[in-house]
Amino acid sequence: MEGEGKEKAIGIDLGTTYSCVGVWQNDRVEIIVNDQGNRITPSMVAFTADERLVGDAAKFQISSNPLNTVFDVKRLIGRQFTDSSMQADMKLWPFRVVSQENGKPMVEVSYKGEKKLFAPEEISSMVLMKMKTIAEQYLESEVKNAVITVPAYFSDSQRKMTKDAGRIAGLNVMRIINEPTAAAITYGFGRAKEEKKHILVFDLGGGTFDVSIVLVQKGKFEVKSVGGEAHLGGEDFDNRMVTYCAEKFKKMYKTDLCASAKALRRLRSECERAKRSLSSAVETVIDIDCLYEGHDFFLKIRRAKFEELNIDLFEKCMKVVKKSVEDAKLSKSQIDDIVLVGGSSRIPKVQELVRDFFDGKELCRGVNPDEAVAYGAALQAAVLNKEEVDIVMVDVTPLSLGIEVDDGVMMVVVPRNSPLPIRKETSVTTLEDDQTSVDFEVYEGERTLVVDNNLLGKFVLTGIPSALATVPKIKVCFEVDAEGILNVSAHDKGSGATNEITITNEGGRLSIQEIDKMIADAEKFRKEDEEAMEKHVAKNDLECYVSNMKKRVIKAKSEGSVDADVTELDLISTIAAVDEWLEDNEDTVTVVELQDELKELKLKCTRLFSSKRFKFTEAEE
Ligand code: AMP
Repeated sequence: MEGEGKEKAIGIDLGTTYSCVGVWQNDRVEIIVNDQGNRITPSMVAFTADERLVGDAAKFQISSNPLNTVFDVKRLIGRQFTDSSMQADMKLWPFRVVSQENGKPMVEVSYKGEKKLFAPEEISSMVLMKMKTIAEQYLESEVKNAVITVPAYFSDSQRKMTKDAGRIAGLNVMRIINEPTAAAITYGFGRAKEEKKHILVFDLGGGTFDVSIVLVQKGKFEVKSVGGEAHLGGEDFDNRMVTYCAEKFKKMYKTDLCASAKALRRLRSECERAKRSLSSAVETVIDIDCLYEGHDFFLKIRRAKFEELNIDLFEKCMKVVKKSVEDAKLSKSQIDDIVLVGGSSRIPKVQELVRDFFDGKELCRGVNPDEAVAYGAALQAAVLNKEEVDIVMVDVTPLSLGIEVDDGVMMVVVPRNSPLPIRKETSVTTLEDDQTSVDFEVYEGERTLVVDNNLLGKFVLTGIPSALATVPKIKVCFEVDAEGILNVSAHDKGSGATNEITITNEGGRLSIQEIDKMIADAEKFRKEDEEAMEKHVAKNDLECYVSNMKKRVIKAKSEGSVDADVTELDLISTIAAVDEWLEDNEDTVTVVELQDELKELKLKCTRLFSSKRFKFTEAEE
């Protein structure tokens, strides 16, 4: 294997609905398939009476366990419970979300018969750990280093929480990069010699919508502008269809299926399937047996109807595109290529609107929309891992950063779209005579008043020597690193003393102790998962053996090779006893007990078969 001995670094697209992992190997990016042979893995975690399931395994069992199957957690990360968008989402989630005292949302599930609360970053870490394992199984070595992608407009706390999720998963997060930047890297890779090009990355996924305009020039990437909607994507289109179908159902049967989480889940998954097929067919059917209260549901739906249900959402996307072009100070005709990313960008109406907006320009199809982000993240990971990939990258701040000054006004220190990393200083002073401390509130956003922007953190600068108002000169320094993570400091110039600053992270970010506890829990869960898997294997081995023996007895009997009823009875009762034992002890039995039982059964069976009254071939076993 090329590069053997050198630890690999992976790129993870941690998506709202699906995640994808890639690695640089053999001079190219390889998108890694999971244990089901799929190149994308559902960002889903399920808790059952005896195990935890992540990815496809969680998705498979969702209709039988809707209350304990968690998805969409990227919509929760870094948000407050009272957020209006969160409240709206919650109505559609079958799983329960509760609020902590500090307003942080927590997912409540039943796991191993107990009520458990998980922080959003803990659930994300479980998905990340799954992606890490997928890569490790493929590479046959431990993987620690990773680049993780986030939506371009993710706030500082959302980025930090994503990084925390990575740490909990046992990853060394080398860098957090914007999803559209990753897609642009994918597009630009191999075009190093091409002239300067402005590309627009149109990323419409399951839960989020991002637009970025990136200047690609000789292997260098510069994000000119970013825009998007934190709450716009395939799931919203599914919701529109679900609501439409639920209303139809109500009219047909005078009953509301929304009362049943299971019925809602089944309907949602059928709507999602129908939506996908409407991207290639003009008509499809939704056909669900016994959907609710014994009623079947059958509906023919045309592409035109789907478009009608969602047209306002599609148009919302176009408004964002228009604004991004304006923000980049470009005209439409200066956009050289449009790269479509995210599964929902396959919707024909969406493509038509984009094409029309750019006066009929052909859309770039060279990049697989589901994998473009992970591909770019893997390239970035390889660069940071000092592998031979020739890419330089300049990223920008998605929102303006500043502090509150007089009368609740935001003073911008780092303007939006500033290239990263950046360090900017400004001076402030006191408002009153003999003021010995100053409160700082750090915000992000584009509005004039801080109440309309997002509070990132607060700190107090104390120990300023007494003086008349406006005399002290306090230097405030904003530093944003290459990952978009912000640090703010302040010191009093006049006294020359550097004062201590305490930043209180708003938004319920985890403390170091909490992270450490979660890392320990994650390790415990991983061990439990492994034990559960070992138990599955041991139980399966025993069950297979029992079933083979049953078949063999029947076969031997039909062939007339049983010449002593007593032997047959012995065997049947031995097998039946094991069967019964398995059933009675299903929950409590250990791996060792299962293995011992199998050993003992094999011994007994071999002894009975070797009495030569049975005819059998080794191959049958
Ligand atoms: P992503 O998060 O980028 O993987 O996008 C997943 C979203 O894309 C989900 O909402 C899918 O339902 C949606 N999607 C995937 N394929 C299609 C398709 N052919 N037509 C419409 N939507 C799709």
